[in-house]
Amino acid sequence: MTEACYLGVDIGGTKVSFRLVRGADGEVLWSSFARWPEVPSDVGDDLAVLRTRVRDLREATRVWPAGVGVAVAATVDAAGRVVSWPNRGTWRGLDLLGELRSLFPGSEVAWADDGALATVAEAAAAEVPNLVYAGVGTGIGGGVVVGGRLLSAMSGGACELGHVVVNHDGPPCTCGRRGCVQAEASGPATLRRASAECRQTVAFDRLRVGYRDREPWAAAAIEHSCAALAAALAGVGELVAPAVHVVGGGFAAGIPGYVAEVGRHLAALSRPGHPAAPVVPARFGGESSLRGAVLAAMGALSGPDVPRRPDQRARER
Ligand SMILES: [Zn+2]
Repeated sequence: MTEACYLGVDIGGTKVSFRLVRGADGEVLWSSFARWPEVPSDVGDDLAVLRTRVRDLREATRVWPAGVGVAVAATVDAAGRVVSWPNRGTWRGLDLLGELRSLFPGSEVAWADDGALATVAEAAAAEVPNLVYAGVGTGIGGGVVVGGRLLSAMSGGACELGHVVVNHDGPPCTCGRRGCVQAEASGPATLRRASAECRQTVAFDRLRVGYRDREPWAAAAIEHSCAALAAALAGVGELVAPAVHVVGGGFAAGIPGYVAEVGRHLAALSRPGHPAAPVVPARFGGESSLRGAVLAAMGALSGPDVPRRPDQRARER
């Protein structure tokens, strides 16, 4: 009998990524990504990108997924409608679940917050019961696992790590408040600061090279972001005392030295007798949400427990 296939889809702020796997062991059959149009005039433009890639999948693989798991950066209500997404405002009001069902007829469709799914994937890989995950990309997402269970995400509201306030007088956040860690340390916020320090528009690659070469403007911009993220992790760490902080997301994973910098700032915030937990890079780099989406596609996320990896389950058989 042919083993079932499962598709993970990560709908992010700048691009959509896909990973199609076969069977419980997750043999990868196809992976792809597509960037959204830079200036969306209509959500239909983005949906056309999505449809084209799904057609590519069908033509390239000749298989159809039994389950589809979708990681979404947008805030989506329980009925599957997009409530808000400041990074792609045209999606507001979209019947996301309806669109996904029409894109994947006959497939089981599950969706969840991208930070929550990334946390689940990283926790399954890390094999520790208590963990905080932060993903730095277009925004900042994340989640908390305590006693092997993801806090609050699967039952509705996600852990909104990006909106932890680290500077009450800081820059405005897309949520309307000031000083959220996302406003201080997201990819776009860091590039804005780098551009101001450098006195010219700085794109990601320029920042990465500048930081590698220890150019002062690049070091200042990255250090500010890492210090802000460390402050958020220190605050969350006081509440849940994780064994480890995991930092990933496309922006952080793309800058060598970023995670170690967060670790240095977090260590400096330790209290006497309460050393901060180590900060480690995400096992899946900028792909943690996509890996979590695959787990959702496999139906592994029916409750708050972090699923065990297929190879762990195989060992236990
Ligand atoms: Zn905010």
